[in-house]
Amino acid sequence: MSVGFIYPEEPKATKDLKMKVIKYLILIAIICLSISAKSAYSQEEDRSFFSSKYCSVFYGNDVDLRKVNRRLNLGFSNFYNPRGHKESPGISTADIIADKLDAIFNKAEEILDMHPARIHVAINIYKTQKELDQVYEEFFNEPNKAVSFYIYKTNTIYTVESQLTENILAHEMAHCIIDCYFVMLPPRKIQEMLAVYVDVHLKD
Ligand SMILES: [Zn+2]
Repeated sequence: MSVGFIYPEEPKATKDLKMKVIKYLILIAIICLSISAKSAYSQEEDRSFFSSKYCSVFYGNDVDLRKVNRRLNLGFSNFYNPRGHKESPGISTADIIADKLDAIFNKAEEILDMHPARIHVAINIYKTQKELDQVYEEFFNEPNKAVSFYIYKTNTIYTVESQLTENILAHEMAHCIIDCYFVMLPPRKIQEMLAVYVDVHLKD
């Protein structure tokens, strides 16, 4: 009798079971993928966008633009002309905010006497301080103490609906302008002094 080694045939029942398990795993994988795609999509859907000459504004759908508009008080200024907004009822709150942002940005450039070419900044407005804190912690791995901040890497100002003011925005915009203007960035303390200078002189 010759003896050779033969791989034993798998019983059919085991094969069927294996196929079932594989099919089941594929199905689970597909479900997981579609859930993660959906959550990423719905996160996108939760945020809206508008832009002006200098700014692209991203905000949660729960953010009240009328409140944001009220908080940006430029009544004191001679650098903001409301373009006859009262006479054109068709104009949206986003349009009015866009104009105000550009006016503040222009003024910040003027105060610094820095006018870098092709400058544009993103502004992320969150509904709650908690959301802002989360963003900060994800970037810096430490607790947030600010009501707004600018991140050079993303060229974005992060802020909260309930804290936003014309001065805070002027300060953060100044950070963006300073970062774009200097080829060699000045020390952090000097950058901060310049940004504070803009904030302090906004209403001169
Ligand atoms: Zn600062």
